[in-house]
Amino acid sequence: MPELLIKNGLIIDPLAGEARRDLLIRHGRIARVSTRISAPAGCAVYDAAGLWVFPGFIDAHVHAREPGAEGAETITSAARAAAAGGITSILLMPNTAPPMASPALLKKFAARAKRAPVNVYFSAAATAGRSGTGVAGLAALKRAGARAFTDDGSCLPGALLVELVRKAGALGVALMDHPENFSRTGNGVINAGAAARMLGLPGIPAEAEALAVLRDILAACGCGPIHLQHLSLAASVLALRLAKKAGWPVTGETCPHYFSLCDADIKRDDADYKMKPPLRRAADRRAVIAGIADGTIDILASDHAPHEHRFKAKGFKSAPFGIIGLETLAPLCVTELVLKNRISRLRLARLLSANPARLLGLKKKGSLAPGSDADITVIDPRTTRRVPECFVSKSSNSPFKGLLLRGWPAATIVAGRVVYSRP
Ligand SMILES: [Zn+2]
Repeated sequence: MPELLIKNGLIIDPLAGEARRDLLIRHGRIARVSTRISAPAGCAVYDAAGLWVFPGFIDAHVHAREPGAEGAETITSAARAAAAGGITSILLMPNTAPPMASPALLKKFAARAKRAPVNVYFSAAATAGRSGTGVAGLAALKRAGARAFTDDGSCLPGALLVELVRKAGALGVALMDHPENFSRTGNGVINAGAAARMLGLPGIPAEAEALAVLRDILAACGCGPIHLQHLSLAASVLALRLAKKAGWPVTGETCPHYFSLCDADIKRDDADYKMKPPLRRAADRRAVIAGIADGTIDILASDHAPHEHRFKAKGFKSAPFGIIGLETLAPLCVTELVLKNRISRLRLARLLSANPARLLGLKKKGSLAPGSDADITVIDPRTTRRVPECFVSKSSNSPFKGLLLRGWPAATIVAGRVVYSRP
């Protein structure tokens, strides 16, 4: 395997801190980090002067739509979009058709994903067949490679929650929940509030998320860890903050749209703004940012949810929920959080790399310390570029099209191999 020397970059490592260093990659691992390393004979050199060098970003919430909706995305196209977005590892959600709910299916698609340009990990359904009735064969799913259990798209059923928390905890595999009380969501398609009234659309009330978050937190108390996916509410952030203060084993995630947008940004019936949970009030957005800044929120993930244009064109009432996010995750985090001085670069490295690595049990990832996997995200903080209309992803359902952002990836390196380099 060829060696690679990254020179003159600002190395941002959650363990060692931040410093201008050279970084040598050998055999797919980080071999050395030092003030001045001269290139060994035959070694490729990447000049990262003026660039930020992060441990590879890990997106723990991705829908690749394969099997079942390959017109919207495939594992290969999602992995390419990830590489173009500066993301070196992705965790796929199991709500495919059929669902990722059997060891055989997991093994089949894991073998296919080996050829992808980034590391592709799979979560498996937490309930049998993702039916919500009965706990899945978690031990066998873990042996088949599952890195997490979740019924994402659906909420974990209350009747099974404590059993799930205990069993996943005993196996040491993350249990993740899409916290939503569907009886409160009803036929809602947008946050219950001013935008819903303006557009005459049925609203999703805050308690649809808040009730499920409180329930999950109580289940974690005394039973085992649980990870709360895509938090969007001030109430969720507050509950998570209090749970952590009490020492309960709960972790939380949010997505760029919840810290970049609110429901007041929805000016017309455009389903590129339709996702679950919905964009909330400006006050929720502020609370989410505060939770990211003070460590309440553990990870940032895209909830990349591609849909074909013909479905999204149906408008808010009938279009499916979800927006793409792999290619805008990094620049939105850099522009909205780091460059607006809401968080430090080091905190971003924890949110996008160290913390998701720990959550998924990826022991050699999440740091740039020698011996770590040479998964690296190089970010250019200076160049401003518009979010394109067309993406590497097969879908383009993004509310960010045309937005000017900074912090685009300059290079994405997986196991020492450059899998993306900006044109
Ligand atoms: Zn979800």
